[in-house]
Parts: sequence; C-alpha cells; structure tokens
Amino acid sequence: MHRIIYPIKCRRMYLNILRRLCNSFRTTRLTPELTPVIILAANCRVLTSSPRVHYSHSVQTLEQLKDMRVHIIPALQDNYMYLLVDEASKQAAIVDPVEPEKVMNVVNKEQVKLTAVLTTHHHLDHSGGNAQIVTMVPNLLVYGNDDRIAAQNKPVKHQDKFQVGQLSVTALATPCHTSGHICYYVESEDHKSRAVFTGDTLFVGGCGKFFEGTAEEMFHALCEVLASLPGDTQVYCGHEYTVKNLMYASHVEPASDAVKGKLDWSKERRSNNEPTIPSTISEELSFNPFMRVKEKTVQEHCSTTDPLAAMAYLRKEKDGFKYPNL
Ligand SMILES: [Zn+2]
Repeated sequence: MHRIIYPIKCRRMYLNILRRLCNSFRTTRLTPELTPVIILAANCRVLTSSPRVHYSHSVQTLEQLKDMRVHIIPALQDNYMYLLVDEASKQAAIVDPVEPEKVMNVVNKEQVKLTAVLTTHHHLDHSGGNAQIVTMVPNLLVYGNDDRIAAQNKPVKHQDKFQVGQLSVTALATPCHTSGHICYYVESEDHKSRAVFTGDTLFVGGCGKFFEGTAEEMFHALCEVLASLPGDTQVYCGHEYTVKNLMYASHVEPASDAVKGKLDWSKERRSNNEPTIPSTISEELSFNPFMRVKEKTVQEHCSTTDPLAAMAYLRKEKDGFKYPNL
C-alpha cells in the first residue's frame, strides 16, 4: 500500500487529528481511500525530514498463562490489540489488529503462526486494520458479527465455537455498544486457563457507550453473559480507560475499598506507562458499577431498586461526569 504524506510537523497536532479521525470513523464505513489515512494515523508517525517519532500510550507486556499467552500490544491513542498464542501449536489469533505492521512485528519476533483475526466490533479503531492484515498473511480467518467489518469471512453468532490450535474460543454476542458486538471467551484444553476479550462492551471498571443498544441489552451483556463466566477469567478490554472509570466508580461507591484499592493501583501502573489490563470477572464484580447494578449501594446512588433503571442512570451520569484532577 502506498503511503500518503501529510505536511504535519507537530506530534500534538497529529494526535489531535488521529483522535478526530477515530471519533468520526465510529459510524463511518471504511473506504479504500480512507484506509491509508487511518493506518497512517494508527502508526502515529510524524512524517517530516526528521527521523520517525513513534508514540505509544503504554509499554507492550505479556501475560503468561498455563498453555497460552497473551501479548498486550498498545495501539492508537488508548486502544489495545491482543496476540493470543496457543503454546502447544504456536498458532495465534489477533484481537482487533488496527495497527497491522505492529502486530506482524510481534508475530515474527515470537515466531508464531497467525491464523485468525478476532474482531470485536466494526468501529474503525478496532476493525480498521483488517483490510490490510489479510493482504499480509494468506488464508487468515477473520471472525466477527457485522457486515460493516472489513474482510470478515467467518461470521459468528452467540455461542459459536472454534479452535485456535488447542485453545477453544466461544463467541459471546453482547450487542449494545454496537449491534454486532462480540466478546471472545477462550479456554485452554484442560480448562485451567481462561480469558475473555471484551472489546468495547466491558472495560476495567466501566463499559462502552450505548451507541446502538439499550440499558437492558448492556445489563444482559454485563450482568448475565459476562458475569456468568468463571470468576478467575482474565478480562482483556479494548481501551485503557481504567483510571477515569474508577474515578467515576468512586463517585458511585465512595466507601468501597475495592474501588479505592484498584484506583490507587491503576494510577501507579499508569504513572509508569504500564497497562492496567487484565482484570478478572471476580474483580469487575467487586468494583465495576455497571456490573453491580443489583447491589444496594449502587441502587441507592441511582435512587432506584430497578437494575435496568440503575444501568441507564449510570451511563447517563458517567457521560456527563466531570473528572477531578484530570
Ligand atoms: Zn467502539
């Protein structure tokens, strides 16, 4: 693919353009003309006569579980891509590869065989690299649940199962943020390692905006589908939003030690540019207000005893929330 060079000499200006691109692309179809722009933006390179400047919101890290590992790869302004590796076969899947070149650097360095793309939803800060990565790796299986996802060739629906090497993956339909949103639940063959890739449905301490769905749908996604996963399931979400999410959580439940402890830990991690990912389902149930709408403390904050009304209240309040000291 040829690159478009823009006369942009300031990183801050460049990042602002990227932010605007990501926002405006949320409801826009990716066209061939836009592809190099988003990829260029994704690469966050300032193209001047000086050497390329790389921007990264976090350091790249690795989670080693029994029989599988997850490379946490930062992307764009605050997105994460995840390279899931089956230790037995060295087959790998990539979740939301918005920066394909960065993904392929890790794939090549780790000497794994990339066989699948797991797309959580169509927003271009998640699916915007699909069209390019299928040109870089032959025969890639591109999973997803939305015709707006580029290069999707393996449509999945709720509870569909497939393998990545010895790892079993189950698609969980969680419509609300987008109507076709899928979370991917992964288990090792002996069922001892578990992870769920939650895109923009569940964040650490929060959840995605209800762009194409209702409070009832988010309640179903968070409090029924995801809450029913084993408590030790690791949660890998689509964005680094943890500190702000927990600031809001401490407004909802100011007396919560779980919120305070995780917020302090998250601030410390972010001060070193370290990801706050993963959490676990048990942890989320202890501090994430959107997963706690059946709890008395959260319901009292929302002045209701109805979990669905509490869900709607929290989303609306958080959307207008003024974050202290940010
Ligand atoms: Zn999204």
